[in-house]
Amino acid sequence: MPILLVLFVTAACLPVPWVNPLGLTAGGAAGLTAAVVGTSLAAAVALRALAVRALRRDPARRAGVARVYGRLRRLFGLTNLALAAGAIAGLGWGWAVQHTLTVTRFGFEQLAPFAELAVPLPYFVVLVGGWVLYYDAERALHAAGGGKNFPSRLTYVLGHARLMALMVGLPVTLYAGLQSLGRFYPELATADAFRLGSLALLPGLAMVMPLLAKPLLGLRRLPDGPTRDRLEALARRLRFRYTDLLLWPTHGTMANALIAGLIPQARYVVFTDRILDEFPADEVDAIFGHEVGHQQHGHLWLYAAFILLSVIDLSALALWAQPYLVATLTPAAFDAPWWLALPPVGLAAAYIFLVFGLLSRRCERQADVFGCRAVSCANPACTGHNPDTDFPAAGRGLCPTGIRTFVRALERVELLHGPDDPAPHRPTKRLLRGVFGWLRAWQHGPIRRRVGFLMDLIDHPARERRFQWRVFAFRVALMAILVAALVALGEAVGWRNLLAAL
Ligand SMILES: [Zn+2]
Ligand SMILES: [Zn+2]
Repeated sequence: MPILLVLFVTAACLPVPWVNPLGLTAGGAAGLTAAVVGTSLAAAVALRALAVRALRRDPARRAGVARVYGRLRRLFGLTNLALAAGAIAGLGWGWAVQHTLTVTRFGFEQLAPFAELAVPLPYFVVLVGGWVLYYDAERALHAAGGGKNFPSRLTYVLGHARLMALMVGLPVTLYAGLQSLGRFYPELATADAFRLGSLALLPGLAMVMPLLAKPLLGLRRLPDGPTRDRLEALARRLRFRYTDLLLWPTHGTMANALIAGLIPQARYVVFTDRILDEFPADEVDAIFGHEVGHQQHGHLWLYAAFILLSVIDLSALALWAQPYLVATLTPAAFDAPWWLALPPVGLAAAYIFLVFGLLSRRCERQADVFGCRAVSCANPACTGHNPDTDFPAAGRGLCPTGIRTFVRALERVELLHGPDDPAPHRPTKRLLRGVFGWLRAWQHGPIRRRVGFLMDLIDHPARERRFQWRVFAFRVALMAILVAALVALGEAVGWRNLLAAL
């Protein structure tokens, strides 16, 4: 979801001249937009009331309520994106912003610095309003499930806001900053050094992001104790280099672990409190192994290279395919129709969704196998582990007990996030459920498939080598295609033109 959101917000901040198709005044467009925002928030109030009332009447129906509520909330989330896009492009909100938030410079009216951030504002009002409103439903669900110590409304909203500020706010504000610089100092913005610098910003941001995540998300050092000692020993055994192990206090609202950091000097593995509180020690080790697997298989650098190459390739493709498309993306060309900017943005989103999805699902599976290896002994036919079991270094073993431990952890995560009920009989409903399931799991793949693949390795260990080889071939082919496309497009449009278009 954050990737799609970043795309949406960036698209809203593009220097395209938004139109006013209804011919309203700025106040009229703002009023209509406010009405849309109000309607969306009213829908959130209704959904919250339904969930809270159903739980009050019969707390035993929690699983069913959680499923319907979760599905409707996801649907509302997508609808809100569509409504915001409609308000920006169709109701004239984007136009109103561009004609109201201006400053006069050298006798010309110009969009004020960072004013483009006001274009996606309606979406953020709905988003933050949703956190405030849905809080009661989330707390009721938490209580009905026997949970205690749900955070206060302010803590809950701030927790979401911090995550959003890091994942979406930071990159988009940087982007708006570059746009503002380009508006006010065009001679600076066309210099090669500036363009190369802004291009280097992307990998640079990826490198320092983990350092910013610590204060922004309120992450803490994992306290000293048996868990930390065990994980540190496991890291040594897996030959994993990192800066620190961190704890993400979410008041038990999230069960998640993640790894961030391209370089060992700024590399962290983060666990939410719920993982450490509710998962048995061997499963925490397996989850840690999965995150370490992302690093040991080089996924973090692979993702960074993929995104950088993709951005350059897509820009080069736009430049090569239709010069006037690019013209709409530069502030000077206000004569091209505004909607010409939309197909490239849609194509870029589809590309990320499809190609990054393909890559990411394979990498997740590789990390899954490494997670199994992290808790595997050297005996491929073992029947169980005891305190004297010897675990080989660098995750060289792969045994049935290790696989089952990792699978148990995966299934526990699925249970906490709410499993889907059995497939419905009507084909249209089944198809819809399938589509929603894939949309939800596009980065990781459905948990049931991941489990099926791993359990299969118990009886057919040879399939693991074949799998690793196929992923390796896929990665090499993907990178080769991206580099070849870059060389071909660069030669076709001219390297200097390409640099100027980035
Ligand atoms: Zn992963
Ligand atoms: Zn074993």
